[in-house]
Amino acid sequence: MADYQLIIIGGGLSGLAAGIRAARFGQRTLLLEQHSLPGGLNSYYFRHGHLLETGLHAMTNFARPADKRAPLNRLFRQLKLSRKRFVTREQFGSQIIFPGNRLAFSNDLSLLESEVAREFPRCRSSFSGLIRKIEDFDPFAPAPHRSARAFLHAQLDNPLLENMLLLPLMVYGNAEEHDMDLAQFTIMFRALFLEGFFRPEHTIREFLALLVDQYKGFGGELRLKTPVREILRYGDRVTGVRLADGEDIRAKAVLSTVGLPATAGLSGWKLDAEKYTGKMSFMETISLLPAKKSRELSRDRTIIFYSHDEDWDYRRPDRLIDSSWGVICFPENFQGIEAQKTMQLRVTHAADYHQWRQLDPSDYGAAKERCSQESRHMVGKIVGNYGQDIVYQDSFTPVTIERFTGKGEGAVYGSPIKIKDGRTPLQNLFIAGTDQGFLGIVGSMLSGVTIVNQHLLR
Ligand SMILES: Cc1cc2nc3c(=O)[nH]c(=O)nc-3n(C[C@H](O)[C@H](O)[C@H](O)COP(=O)(O)OP(=O)(O)OC[C@H]3O[C@@H](n4cnc5c(N)ncnc54)[C@H](O)[C@@H]3O)c2cc1C
Repeated sequence: MADYQLIIIGGGLSGLAAGIRAARFGQRTLLLEQHSLPGGLNSYYFRHGHLLETGLHAMTNFARPADKRAPLNRLFRQLKLSRKRFVTREQFGSQIIFPGNRLAFSNDLSLLESEVAREFPRCRSSFSGLIRKIEDFDPFAPAPHRSARAFLHAQLDNPLLENMLLLPLMVYGNAEEHDMDLAQFTIMFRALFLEGFFRPEHTIREFLALLVDQYKGFGGELRLKTPVREILRYGDRVTGVRLADGEDIRAKAVLSTVGLPATAGLSGWKLDAEKYTGKMSFMETISLLPAKKSRELSRDRTIIFYSHDEDWDYRRPDRLIDSSWGVICFPENFQGIEAQKTMQLRVTHAADYHQWRQLDPSDYGAAKERCSQESRHMVGKIVGNYGQDIVYQDSFTPVTIERFTGKGEGAVYGSPIKIKDGRTPLQNLFIAGTDQGFLGIVGSMLSGVTIVNQHLLR
């Protein structure tokens, strides 16, 4: 007899959400996480007396509690969590900055509409038309890959505006280089521009604790520091998992949230790993600065998406990092978040996993320092200089991401090819999370819930 009805591999946000949903419906569920903390890409660590978050710039898909049909509120209902008690802090406002042009946006779409009208007067009505098309689009209808770039160009016929709109959507949720699947584009457009950014009232630690408590409250079991080494099979079915310490655990079904190449590796399912391994990874630098610098640097902006080059392209760079474009986040700039003694400044740049991987351990630290300096120089052109004020700084690279989350090549958004129905060639092995196709914090949680609903509650 099986020990569990369901084993979930990976205690990131998709695994936790899937676990809550399955346990809520009485499934004997075991969640296995290799790391000592849950959260995966969205976890935290302590340095210099501060809690530093690994992922969270902002959550997307903001919705007020009364908006019953909004994805965020549907997610909370599915997890049986009170949306009313979950305090959200909306962004102040964000910006997209390209040479000679800038667009501000907030959680009120009319700001972006007026900004487009101001910066690109000839695109005013085509931008309204674009929004209507996106609102009417069904991203979940089965369809082959369609080019978001071609769609945008047909609507707007303005390459600069097209790039400015694509940068935030791609950097916050696109596994593919250069282009983006149209369905994914519309999901991200709604998540960022129609719904918007917010943060939970506290840090990701409290949010993770809320999810873990809910999961355990429904009877779910969680084992941390428990890497899975193999998914056990019998013919075209899986029978359970083998842990790194050799223990076997049996289950009726297994749900993997560790990505397609890793799931294939664990289960012996033959997959062209090269084709399925994503290329987009990032270096993230977190700087702590005296709080008094906040107004001067951020000027009340929450997130800035910038490119110093009009011909911006979303791709793995051919050097350690590409600082010519990136994301600058001020995590305290959300309404109602109290100022601390120090402020944080987070900067994200596309990075090349292979160049980081081949560095000698003795060169790695120096390369991080060099890249941070280069980043400060390029970011300084947007927000002003801050290097001399840094109290503490820490960076992580694609190699760190791979080490702590098992994501091959540090590919934050996983494989460019997604398995939307969550099925694998093995009948009772399913995929959720990043490689099922919903990305980001809210997206990956919706993915966990959706796959449990579709395949595991019968
Ligand atoms: C720098 C950065 C900034 C980000 N900023 C944002 C943001 O502002 N807003 C937003 O919405 N999203 C953001 N994201 C993206 C978001 O974090 C992810 O999309 C989401 O957390 C993915 O969740 P997941 O559960 O699919 O995958 P993961 O978080 O990767 O979870 C998979 C889990 O599986 C575990 N695992 C792997 N192999 C094994 C094994 N063999 N055995 C047991 N466990 C295993 C891993 O340790 C991990 O915990 C950011 C990501 C990064 C890296």
